[in-house]
Amino acid sequence: MTYAKTYQQALERAGVKDDSIHHEFVSGAHGVKLDFDVTHKNRSSLLYMAGVMMKASMIMRDFEGSDRIGVLGIDTGTTQHARDVATVILSSGFGARVFSLTTVKSIQNGQKFIELTDETKELLVDHRITSVAIDDDVGTTGSSTAQPIPIMRDLGVQDTAVYYDWVRNPRLPRLDELQVAYRGMIEAWLPDYQPDDCILCDSGVPLVPYGREPM
Ligand SMILES: [Zn+2]
Repeated sequence: MTYAKTYQQALERAGVKDDSIHHEFVSGAHGVKLDFDVTHKNRSSLLYMAGVMMKASMIMRDFEGSDRIGVLGIDTGTTQHARDVATVILSSGFGARVFSLTTVKSIQNGQKFIELTDETKELLVDHRITSVAIDDDVGTTGSSTAQPIPIMRDLGVQDTAVYYDWVRNPRLPRLDELQVAYRGMIEAWLPDYQPDDCILCDSGVPLVPYGREPM
């Protein structure tokens, strides 16, 4: 069995994927939700550390030869995780300077935007960081992960790749449009269903409406 498969099974056992309920997503589609808060809130767990180590090793392999790299977390889910990934890379003797970069979520006209913090913009410019690894948990369409990328490019970043814990769709259209590479520690497709045509509703699996969490 591969590491990825072992990791996936351990995550499922920890409750990251709860098959007893399903969710309505922002798009209106239905599907089983992945909740990485379950593992990310316990930083001392071996499961969390295993994820940090695996992600750090993927990034080091892809960015071999870079003399400085940024590791960008996506607010709020992976801010601390990305810091921990950066710390592992820094302490591994990789040889590059490593910078922790952060984003902040804002709501404009009812829509969610992921923006670089002012501190991160300054770091990118002051240290002429050209390579950035984005650390995010679940890849569904790539649209929120992609939001900070055009601004980073304007600030001089040339090389960006996204590292997910779990990529749940074969294609992430927004990242494809921007020609940004992405990889998942786990790449396992989870189907979305249209509400009228949802086999989970049909089989009586309880639905959690968008924006509401089960008790
Ligand atoms: Zn449904």
